[in-house]
This record gives sequence, C-alpha cells and structure tokens, in this order.
Amino acid sequence: MAASTRVTDHGGGVWSIQVPIPDNPLGHTLVYVVDTDRGPVLIDAGWDDPASWDTLTEGLTACGTSVGELYGVLVTHHHPDHHGLSGRAREASGAWVAMHAADLAIVRRTRETRPGRWFTYMTAKLTAAGAPEEHVAPLRTSEPRTLPGLSPALPDREIVPGELLDLPGRRLRAIWTPGHTPGHVCLHLEESHPAQLPGHGRLFSGDHLLPEISPHIGLYEDPDDATVTDPLGDYLDSLERVGRLAAAEILPAHQYAFTHALSRVGELLTHHEQRLAGLLSLLSDPLTLWQLAERTEWNRPWADIPHGSRNIAVSEVEAHLRRLVKLGRAEAVPGTDPVTYVAV
Ligand SMILES: [Zn+2]
Ligand SMILES: [Zn+2]
Repeated sequence: MAASTRVTDHGGGVWSIQVPIPDNPLGHTLVYVVDTDRGPVLIDAGWDDPASWDTLTEGLTACGTSVGELYGVLVTHHHPDHHGLSGRAREASGAWVAMHAADLAIVRRTRETRPGRWFTYMTAKLTAAGAPEEHVAPLRTSEPRTLPGLSPALPDREIVPGELLDLPGRRLRAIWTPGHTPGHVCLHLEESHPAQLPGHGRLFSGDHLLPEISPHIGLYEDPDDATVTDPLGDYLDSLERVGRLAAAEILPAHQYAFTHALSRVGELLTHHEQRLAGLLSLLSDPLTLWQLAERTEWNRPWADIPHGSRNIAVSEVEAHLRRLVKLGRAEAVPGTDPVTYVAV
C-alpha cells in the first residue's frame, strides 16, 4: 500500500498514519502526528517491526515532514503496539519520549525482570484459578524469548495528568484514564474543532475508547506486588471522566475517528454492567475463576478459544469478579483450593 493511502489529514495540524501490526487481527495502530512550533510530536509510535517502521517514516514524509524532525513522542500506554517504535523514533531524531509514571514503572520492571519469572508467576496464578493441568503444562516449558516487547525503551519524561504538555503553540492536556493499563492516558487537544463540530476539542483516546472494540481490562499484574487492584472500577470511572469532557471528536489508536463519544461511553458502561450481572447469576453456585471463564459467553465457544486468548479471558473475568467482591456482591468461599467464589 502506498504511504499516502495510509495517511489521513484530520485538519488543524493533525494527521494519522496507519502503522501495521504484523499478524494481528487489529490490523494497525493509528499513530497521530501533531504539528508544533518545535516540530511534529507523535502520539504513540506503532509496533516495532521493519515494515511498520518504513510505514511510519514514509507516512511522516507524506505529512510534509520527516522522522528526523520529530520533537517528541507521547505514549498513551506501554503496550508494544503503541510504545514499540518510540525508542527507534528517538534514536532517529533526538525527540523525548513521555509516558505516565504508572506505565513507566511497568516498562522499567519489564526491562529488569527475567522472562522466566513471568512464566513462574502465570503458572502459579492459573493453577490457583483452577486451570486444568493440560492448560498450565505448556507454560512450564515455554521458551521465554517468544514474549513480545521484552526490552522496551525507557521513556525520558513523565506525562503528568492535568498538566498542559510540552507542545509549543498547542494546547494538549493529559487525562489519566487507568483501566486498560494502570498508566493509560487520553490526550485532550483543547482547541476548537477544525470543522467547527460541536463539543470541546478533540480527544486522542489511545485504547481507552474505541468505536467498536471493548478494550481488554488488564489486572496490572506485578509478580512482586500482591496488592489487589480494581482495574474495572478504574476503567468505569475513567470512562465517565472522559464522557464529561464532551469532546467534539475522538481520535482513537485503532479502527477510525468518531464523534458520538457519549453514546459510545454509554454502550461500554452497559456492556460491563451486563457482564457483571451475568457473572453474578453464574455465581449462585460456587465456581473457580476458570469455571466462570468457561461458562461466560464469548465471541466463540470456549472449546474454540486458543490457549493465549483463554488466559486473557480468565483475566477479564477476574477483573469483573474483583469488582463484584469490592462491591460486596460476591465473596471467596473460605478454605477452598483452588478458591471458589459465590454470590452474596
Ligand atoms: Zn493496549
Ligand atoms: Zn492498542
């Protein structure tokens, strides 16, 4: 595909480049280019892959600039389809790379942790969730180097929520939106919409608010920290906060730009309400996390869900279960191993 067909001019000194994610159903990351008085700033950088890099650099040329001109890279969150190429972009330009402190801590930990540590942790966790031996066994013998993003670039700046960012000549403010990751940020361009659409500016929403995908709610997993977090509670709060901004247009990191922010927020809130209600009705009998995941309705039958996606499904269920426990609607059955949960 020619570079120009991957570039969209959103007006008012904002472009997007569709940077491909190899072998991934998401297809691409929308990397945004925001013009400033000191040179272009990227919002996310895309997956670290040679073809993705070529698309990014050719896309910048099609925007009338070049990778060497970059002034900064703002990373919405640490995932490799967003942060992957920021180190290479920095090397090519001397740009700064900025990320929220909570995701920066994850990057630092990923760089310092032996990959084997992660597999040991996941094996113990899945066993405690009631996963069958045939599911856990492959993790014990996995080759750790198959993990993506093992040595992500260390950002050199922090994105501080609520503050205007260092984009000379622009008004871009960071909004902390934890849930998908603990340090996810949306970036609010507080300038009137170039086509005068009604509402307050434009919002770069990362993975927090997407037009047709409900983002995965992570668990902020940290092998060295046993704190029980409530990522779904964080996400629902973040959604409401973003809804209140009443942005004229949402510029997400996947799929396409859209204007109906409030109704999309409403759909996502309803989706999670329904999932919580569904789990609660399943929990009239005590069930392990694994049993809950098996009985939950997914986009295909449980038997057809591949190994890695089952782990994601279990963590998705755990995020919802933690919410129910926090709300006092479910509890662990004392003395069970693997632990079972039941509605209160
Ligand atoms: Zn993500
Ligand atoms: Zn993403």
